[in-house]
Amino acid sequence: MALFNLTDFDHHEQVVYCSDEQTGLKAIIAVHNTNLGPAAGGCRFWDYENEENALKDVLRLSKGMTYKNAMAGLRLGGGKAVIIGNPKQLKSDALFKAFGRAVNRVGGRYITAEDVNITTSDMAMVNTETEFVSGLEGKSGNPGPFTALGTFLGIKAAVKHKLGKDDLNGIRVAVQGLGSVGYSLCEKLHAAGASLIVTDINEQTLQRAASELNATVVGLDEIYSQDVDVFSPCALGSSINDDSIAQLKAVIIAGCANNQLAEYRHDQIVKDKGILYAPDYVINAGGIINVALEIYPEPYCADEATRLVENIYHTLMTVFTKADELDLPTGQVADKMAREIIANGHK
Ligand code: NAD
Repeated sequence: MALFNLTDFDHHEQVVYCSDEQTGLKAIIAVHNTNLGPAAGGCRFWDYENEENALKDVLRLSKGMTYKNAMAGLRLGGGKAVIIGNPKQLKSDALFKAFGRAVNRVGGRYITAEDVNITTSDMAMVNTETEFVSGLEGKSGNPGPFTALGTFLGIKAAVKHKLGKDDLNGIRVAVQGLGSVGYSLCEKLHAAGASLIVTDINEQTLQRAASELNATVVGLDEIYSQDVDVFSPCALGSSINDDSIAQLKAVIIAGCANNQLAEYRHDQIVKDKGILYAPDYVINAGGIINVALEIYPEPYCADEATRLVENIYHTLMTVFTKADELDLPTGQVADKMAREIIANGHK
């Protein structure tokens, strides 16, 4: 298998393969870039089809974290870890301790946290073997509400830029995915006077949104074609693809999901269709901003985290304005800004 010329390899500083025979741990830690500080990013537990897919995922996600942390103004680089296998079969305290020892051997160049299929109690186990863990219970806690706040403010920025409106009263938003972030986002949108069209695979959550937030519920495939101002992907990656773009009536895409564009070229396609896209790693940085304040040596302060999350509005406004000036897609502009920060540090 090719390694250094894989499509997703981007001069990562370090890629570490970790295994522990006794517990069945197979993990990959990728440190993409530490120019701005130690590499921070969560650990994902996933039953990958093959090991190549796990490697691709960790390479792509760790690079995304470098860009996200840079654009959020954090003194952190980008990294990520994946544990390979079925979490339902493999999860054990011993496995997370083995993962903790693996993280510890990287010597603080990588700081781990929760991602898909990893809970705060799993991380507490990791923490018994290494101090290089964040997002722990009793410290910065669940990042979801901070991600929701950043996404809400990002939608406000996009509405201001595209529609010239200072508030969300009467704005129609289609939300895909009502999980930890999506539901909290819907509560904020509802309180701000927006009307909601929602979908999820979880019927109970949908019923709750209908009764508590007066949301209109639609089927999974119907969400793209709704007559709305904003489409907000808050579930899976790759939901912006040839098929969904063809159906979209929304003039704004702004949601919390990671890796929203199925392929790089979709950035340009969305622009050509007159849709304003809020780059995912800029709008969804609220959680990592909160986690960063736990990693920094200064004591954690929730008010400071909120203040920093509020900057997402202004960062997105800068991206939108530059994209107009340069006549470039917003994703390309954000990438360029992130690369400049990574090369030169924060001003
Ligand atoms: P979550 O698991 O709590 O919620 C995901 C929701 O999406 C669930 O309600 C699930 O039922 C629903 N869903 C799954 N498949 C779906 C489908 N096909 N159509 C519609 N809904 C579907 O996750 P979360 O923490 O709310 O994160 C949501 C997204 O935001 C993810 O892409 C995540 O990577 C990203 N993100 C989360 C954070 C955070 O702080 N939690 C930070 C940055 C990015």
